[in-house]
Amino acid sequence: METKVAVVTGSNKGIGFEIVKGLCQKFNGVVYLTARNEERGRQAIRKLREFELNPLFHLLDVTDEESIKEFASHISKHHSGIDVFVNNAGILDFDKSVPSYEDAKKLIDTNFMSLLTISKILYPLLKNDARIINLSSDWGLLSNIRKQVWLDTLVKDDLTVEEILQFVNDFLTAVKGGKNTFVSFAGQHGDYKVSKVALSALTFVQQRQFTEQGKDISVNCVHPGFIKTDMTKGMGDFEPERGARAPLYLALEAPQSQKGTFVWHDCHQVN
Ligand code: NDP
Repeated sequence: METKVAVVTGSNKGIGFEIVKGLCQKFNGVVYLTARNEERGRQAIRKLREFELNPLFHLLDVTDEESIKEFASHISKHHSGIDVFVNNAGILDFDKSVPSYEDAKKLIDTNFMSLLTISKILYPLLKNDARIINLSSDWGLLSNIRKQVWLDTLVKDDLTVEEILQFVNDFLTAVKGGKNTFVSFAGQHGDYKVSKVALSALTFVQQRQFTEQGKDISVNCVHPGFIKTDMTKGMGDFEPERGARAPLYLALEAPQSQKGTFVWHDCHQVN
């Protein structure tokens, strides 16, 4: 029988690390812990070996097309495809609530644009019943957006990737112009909110596209909870292990029919 393959991006620490740990314990196949930095990635692998868990390691910088291509060619060479793909890698400068244009661009490139490159290069390797799990956020709910035209657009049943890109670019133009009214709370962490709203919207668009193509692939997104990680400077309601609960549920336990949903940290569906 074919060996199943699970991949988690940005999993050398935080929630991603705990997702890898949970997959190693319960997923019937090989698990790839991927990281943008070799030393940090290998250190995480060593940490998991202490628990007698043996994920494989591969470098993967989600903002680097060459790195994504290298990983894709590794997967093609060694496996028959990917069964579970968790888009976990993300950044946020918790201390800098009103971003500069450069900061906002970098954050959106990492948290959202990277998924478009991953879709182009890695999703062709997904098996027909694969599961994609996108780490969104409660800040990835549409209610964070203050601009009516985007509220109306992003809920459309026939929303396109191009429209999501226009939304993201409209926000970046607003940041360039020094306007902080695009999102709730005086524009605070606007780049992060926009990146996660875009990621949630992309989840629903890609689910529709896979279904239209006759594939049984599921694409769901999650709010993992407010989790004590480096991203939140150790603040939060829960430990990282708890943050992995909903992503692991979607990867391992949810019915295959669960598609295009937004799942809360306690695993209940909110859309
Ligand atoms: P951490 O900062 O602890 O971990 C983020 C991970 O992403 C790190 O492994 C980091 O690698 C990696 N990463 C960043 N940029 C890249 C890149 N270009 N390529 C590959 N990996 C990269 O964050 P969390 O564990 O808290 O967050 C995980 C996900 O959950 C994120 O998407 C976040 O937005 C989301 N989330 C988190 C919440 C929380 O309360 N913590 C709440 C809602 C959502 P490195 O070590 O090299 O920096």
